[in-house]
Amino acid sequence: MSESVGGTDRVSVAKAEYGRLRAGHLSAVSAALEDHVARLDWPRERIERYRDQRLRALLAYARERSPFHAARTRGLDPSSATVADLVRLPVMTKQEAQEEWDAIVTVPGLDREKAEHTLAGQAWFSYTPEGQQIFSSGGSTGVRGVYAWDWELFVTLACLAWRMQAREERRGPPLRHPARLAVLEAGVPPHASTPLFDVPSAAGMETVVIPASAPFDEVLAAVAAARPTHLVGYATVIGRLARAALAGMLEIHPVRVSTNSEPLFEEDQRAIREAWHVPVHNLWGSTEIGVQAVGCGRGVGLHVCEDEVVLERVDEAGTSVAPDEPAARTLATGLANRTFPFIRYDLGDEITPLPGRCECGSSFARLADIAGRRDDDFRYPACTIPASVFRHVLGTDPRVSEYQVRQTRAGAEILVVGAPDAAALTSSVTAELRRHGLPEPEVRIRPVDRLPRHEATGKLRRFIALR
Ligand SMILES: [Zn+2]
Repeated sequence: MSESVGGTDRVSVAKAEYGRLRAGHLSAVSAALEDHVARLDWPRERIERYRDQRLRALLAYARERSPFHAARTRGLDPSSATVADLVRLPVMTKQEAQEEWDAIVTVPGLDREKAEHTLAGQAWFSYTPEGQQIFSSGGSTGVRGVYAWDWELFVTLACLAWRMQAREERRGPPLRHPARLAVLEAGVPPHASTPLFDVPSAAGMETVVIPASAPFDEVLAAVAAARPTHLVGYATVIGRLARAALAGMLEIHPVRVSTNSEPLFEEDQRAIREAWHVPVHNLWGSTEIGVQAVGCGRGVGLHVCEDEVVLERVDEAGTSVAPDEPAARTLATGLANRTFPFIRYDLGDEITPLPGRCECGSSFARLADIAGRRDDDFRYPACTIPASVFRHVLGTDPRVSEYQVRQTRAGAEILVVGAPDAAALTSSVTAELRRHGLPEPEVRIRPVDRLPRHEATGKLRRFIALR
């Protein structure tokens, strides 16, 4: 390659190439959205019948094509299995999902090495020759994860992420034109957030991606210039925009707001309602499963995507517990993911079922808003930083194998196992903290050989807040 082909050219070529295939992908999403909106009116029996059939399809496929799942689903007949039979299968951990990647993936010719190669070599988001997208994220445990979303999976997940909003757009008065969605997500690879949320939920809607990691002044200016009718983005970023609007620093008039990727804190939810008096659709998802539950914008809490995801609340031994009993963990089975099946996958979040039927009319079960683990949040005089902010940076650096974040008075000290570029990592973390409202963050990266674990439990505390 000649010197004249600089980084910018390489990125614009990659963007154009990605955009051409993505345009087709978005058309597939629009087509499938019709079916997904209609499903929201299904009665319970229909949801359950459909879910069992989808589960049988997944189990049969995984057993034939994934050596990992073949061994674990032995003894279960996929042709007659129901959701109630899942309890007979072992729990799948994040560690296993990443360490046994090549035995889990069902596509010949795709393995962890190729996925890493794609991540390292792409100048922008991209599709593999088989139509998969490769993403990376640092989940709740802090272990870096690499994920493959096939063409059909993306179509399903985008429908799950947007069908609630699409239903409401159809029920409500005609949209003002031009309808414009401002997308406040990572804005860059390897996070799945931008492809998943940069999706119009109504015909004729334009979208504008505004990278949420830019300095907040720039984000504010870009949002003001976009004059959005709709907003979607990280919960804390949307909350901060709402506070800016309340303070008279942002003059926009959105009619609908969607939040994701972070717990929706009470203070952010309140600010959004006070600033704009609009329905809020909060989403609970993960890069592994995609979308687990979405708020309908009418009733409280989130509706579980029961047609595409099975959630189980279990005790320490993996046995189901009753809705009114406390659970140790939440397991998820993603019914739409054939390329990399997750069956009884430990999500690490805690969920609380909500009883009764929702005022929106849907029979899909509901959960209380996901609180996240507030113990993990760092509270500073100026702001609260959710742990996801650190995971967002540290969990996707391939040269960081493990880390521990310790809150300091004005920032954080980060112990890192691996061989990261300390200067680059320091500036990325600093930028993220600043964008969340921490003035003059002090960040120190300390390379270590290993991290101290709890003497009794052997568990690692990933985040240590100042008390
Ligand atoms: Zn509802």
